[in-house]
Amino acid sequence: MNQRPEPGTRIAHAGEEPVESLTDPIVAPIYQTTVYGYPDVDAVDAVYEGRESGFIYSRYGMPNHRLLESALADLEGLEAGVVTASGMSAITALLFGLMSTGDRIVVSNQVYGGTRNLLDRDVDRFGIEVRYVDALDLKNVRDALRTPATMLYVEGITNPTINVLDLEALAGIARDAGTPLVVDSTFATPIHCNPAEFGADVVIQSATKFIAGHNDVAGGAVLGPANIIERVRQQAIRFGGIGGPFDAWLVLRGLKTLSLRMRQSSANAMSLASALDGHPAVRRIRYPGLPDHPQHTVATRMLRNGYGSMISIELRGGRDAVETVVRSLETIRFAETLGGLATTVVHPATTSHRSVDPEIRRELEISDGLLRFSIGIEEPQDLIREVTSALDQVLSSPH
Ligand code: PLP
Repeated sequence: MNQRPEPGTRIAHAGEEPVESLTDPIVAPIYQTTVYGYPDVDAVDAVYEGRESGFIYSRYGMPNHRLLESALADLEGLEAGVVTASGMSAITALLFGLMSTGDRIVVSNQVYGGTRNLLDRDVDRFGIEVRYVDALDLKNVRDALRTPATMLYVEGITNPTINVLDLEALAGIARDAGTPLVVDSTFATPIHCNPAEFGADVVIQSATKFIAGHNDVAGGAVLGPANIIERVRQQAIRFGGIGGPFDAWLVLRGLKTLSLRMRQSSANAMSLASALDGHPAVRRIRYPGLPDHPQHTVATRMLRNGYGSMISIELRGGRDAVETVVRSLETIRFAETLGGLATTVVHPATTSHRSVDPEIRRELEISDGLLRFSIGIEEPQDLIREVTSALDQVLSSPH
């Protein structure tokens, strides 16, 4: 058996030998492998039974996921985390991992349109009662939780109307009812808010947004107590909504500048919101840092390092004015996302909340004149000049 294998055999195993090095990489490598080899059958038992740590198959977990999970759990001040292929796969794994037919979920009526779709088209279809509440009115929540529920689900800063929920009060109500509080904290990020500090049990992040921050990778995470996260992880493994190692690597790379980016973009958002307040083309501007924001006091208690990077602006001229503004913008892209390095703007009525019933859209104040800006890290004077000039166009347009 000393015979040297043929080249065809040798290349099938080329580059698989361990690389000897006294030094180690200062950035985590990308573990671009879908599978890990066992030394023997005893090792299979040891890894499956948790007596030895070891990776098995990428869908079950891999080093790049593990590194990102512990970084995000640490940032949220929670015990454990699971990362997924997108924010929606995180939410799906959470909902289906923790709920069964006959259960009931109480949900803030101001949530991302995709979350609402999942609840209305799938969660409901599996015989789980979905009860929407206006979570800005705490009495509604208290009343809704008089009937037992598996969870209370909210977004801390709401999409797209940029209201700020009183997480501390909601956590108190949920605790009294014996119901876990789940907070989608995508808009706030751990730099501005840790929902767990106010009593939330589980935090969701769409890492596609600020966490990764460069509009080049999708990801999601659920963070919480280890026993809950384990159930969510097993659900995510069964559903298969797990991203690849390079995705997790990119998210972790983006995460390293999260604090710098959020501080700059939220300072920009504050400057822009202040500059646009009172512009004659604007009916209403929603930014939690403005003293006349309806939950400014709550936001001041809940948020740190600024008031976030999300601004919603309702134009007096409805959809025509929106059209003029998006056509007049120069560098700010009209694109269906948020959380990138550069400022973007979206029209929720025709995008994120397009499939939401128009009557419900009206109820939620998602009008045809509403634009939602995600502010980036540009120089503030340029942003102010560009948006002001686009709004000025509305005043001079023939509509
Ligand atoms: N949560 C919020 C608040 C969102 O805005 C979004 C997407 O816009 C999601 C979750 C879903 O995230 P993803 O697009 O990564 O699936």
